Amino acid sequence: MTLKLSLYLEKYKNYDFGRCPRVFCCGQPCLPVGQSDIPRSSTVKIYCSKCEDVYYPRSKYQCNIDGAYFGATFPHLFLMAYGNLKPKKPTQSYVPKIFGFKVHNKQ
Ligand SMILES: [Zn+2]
Repeated sequence: MTLKLSLYLEKYKNYDFGRCPRVFCCGQPCLPVGQSDIPRSSTVKIYCSKCEDVYYPRSKYQCNIDGAYFGATFPHLFLMAYGNLKPKKPTQSYVPKIFGFKVHNKQ
């Protein structure tokens, strides 16, 4: 691991990697993540530590970065080092409604 975690602490606090697009994550700052550690297999994605999911980055600059640069480990190592930054899991989730009534999923 050649990335200095402390360098990314400031970036994280400045929302440099963007915010989670999920409404119930309330603008949670994201961290870069690779889906693979193998170069040129996928571009970088952003990881939200609140909903624990990955998203496409919004900026075109980030879209061109190889995911292997950060690798699959980075955000998890970062949050292990800065455990105080790990948010609580979201308590709310989206409920589909039609005219105010909950939609039942029929299989
Ligand atoms: Zn999220």
